Amino acid sequence: MSEPKIVGAGTGDTVITVRNLDYPLKAWRVEGDEGEQMWPEPGTWTLAPEFLMRKGVKGVLGCPQCNTAALIPWGMGTLSNGANTLNQFQCQKCGLMCTARLLEWDTRKLFCIAYEKIVKVGGVDVVEPNSKGELVRKEYTHALTREEAFTCFVEVRRSYGRFRVVDVGLVIGFFGHEKDKDQTNLTTD
Ligand SMILES: [Zn+2]
Repeated sequence: MSEPKIVGAGTGDTVITVRNLDYPLKAWRVEGDEGEQMWPEPGTWTLAPEFLMRKGVKGVLGCPQCNTAALIPWGMGTLSNGANTLNQFQCQKCGLMCTARLLEWDTRKLFCIAYEKIVKVGGVDVVEPNSKGELVRKEYTHALTREEAFTCFVEVRRSYGRFRVVDVGLVIGFFGHEKDKDQTNLTTD
């Protein structure tokens, strides 16, 4: 964290103070079939869970002051040395304004983890489908290697009970549905 920087100080009545804040990348606790529930960690950012990623959101940032989550779409901000800088970023809840630097925004690769949730039914292990009836669930994470993606997934999903990882693969792109003319609903399918 660096010292506050004064912007626009001088003759007027208003002095706006914009701090530079660094937000490290951190895996937040998430739950739900597509990560609908998440627990933000203040002063960090995390990769958007699937349901937000399909809406074009890449990351979620936790306000260091009030811990409100802010959605950061793909393409927002300026990239430099792998960090993404958001100028005069303001929290909608508490009003905290800062120049936010999201560290490791672009240095890691995006991996998809395909897994099955295992439950016991009548003493037998069965695969439990998600709310859409799909047996194989998907989750995304930023990592340097496939092994790191796997390890990170296992740690974050410890609260899930039993699961079986089907595969871990590199995500090569996001594609909009053909019927979605504005291409606002992105998917990895
Ligand atoms: Zn806030």
